[in-house]
Amino acid sequence: MARRALITGIAGQDGSLLAELLLAEGYEVVGSVRSLSGNLANLDAIRDRLELVELDLAGERAVAETLALHRPDEVYNLAAISLVSRSWQEPVRTAQVGVVGVTVLLEAIRRGHPGTRFFQASSAEMFGEPAEAPQTEETPLGPLTPYGVAKTFGHFLTGCYRARYGLHASSGILFNHESPRRPLEFVTRKVCHAAAAARLGLLEELPLGRLDARRDWGAAEDYVRAMWLMLQAGRPGDYVIATGESHSVEELVSLAFGHVGLDWRDYVRSDEALMRGGGEPASLVGDSSRARERLGWEPAVRFDELVRRMVDADLALLQAQVTS
Ligand code: NDP
Repeated sequence: MARRALITGIAGQDGSLLAELLLAEGYEVVGSVRSLSGNLANLDAIRDRLELVELDLAGERAVAETLALHRPDEVYNLAAISLVSRSWQEPVRTAQVGVVGVTVLLEAIRRGHPGTRFFQASSAEMFGEPAEAPQTEETPLGPLTPYGVAKTFGHFLTGCYRARYGLHASSGILFNHESPRRPLEFVTRKVCHAAAAARLGLLEELPLGRLDARRDWGAAEDYVRAMWLMLQAGRPGDYVIATGESHSVEELVSLAFGHVGLDWRDYVRSDEALMRGGGEPASLVGDSSRARERLGWEPAVRFDELVRRMVDADLALLQAQVTS
């Protein structure tokens, strides 16, 4: 019989990529979205192979009924207000999804479906300004944003339910991961889209914040594979998922513009208003040795390849828009 998975936040970058992976593995996939009339574009290619449900994750009864109806073997909790700056604008909604939502899900699994395996999307933002580098599963957490605090709650609660109730509940401490499906508010997509636009003569200037900020950027398709591997492992656990390489925003800009034969210095303007003042770390880099050893996971896509793919995807998108 086909295995069944429930993915919360399925219409996002990771949810849609994970759904594609699970369908290819022969799963039946159910996805929860905030609204069926929202933006579901990431699901266009697989929409007819999925079951979508409109689900308020803070609603205990609705979540219990959804689990009872679909009886998933695996639940992937990816729903979140995932943009750090938006978590400052909407801290209450951030907590409703990130704090109440994960509690409701874990309780529903514990009460009615203790054999269901659970994945929680935790984040490197939980480290705040990290106490050490690279960061591991043992690095102290000190979140500095509503997003990071909500993620820290979900991370610890997943560990609590694993320890107290013996649930197969795992948490991925995910470092930044990107794809052409990243929204334009995120710096990688913003830069790649700008490089493509500049190539087509559609952009004169790119305002950016700190060029020396460093991140450990990986490819989203590699990270959703790690989520799946965590739920296939005999034992649950916490895993840092990261490439182990950190790159600066300046390197990102240089690669993206260089890929389309342009000099980034002709376009980038430093913008004080975009300098991070919201408690976000200047530098993050992860050590994913545990995932590599226990799950056999390793990232397949290198940073330069990722940037080239994202620029090429935006070139194709913009060209189609210009000619339509
Ligand atoms: P996205 O923002 O692309 O996806 C999150 C999805 O959750 C969105 O589609 C969002 O919908 C949806 N959502 C929000 N609230 C609810 C709700 N109440 N019910 C159902 N869906 C809801 O994020 P990513 O795919 O990039 O990330 C996936 C997960 O991994 C997130 O939890 C994120 O915090 C975490 N993560 C991601 C990292 C990354 O670099 N991508 C790094 C570390 C952690 P809408 O847009 O309508 O709000």
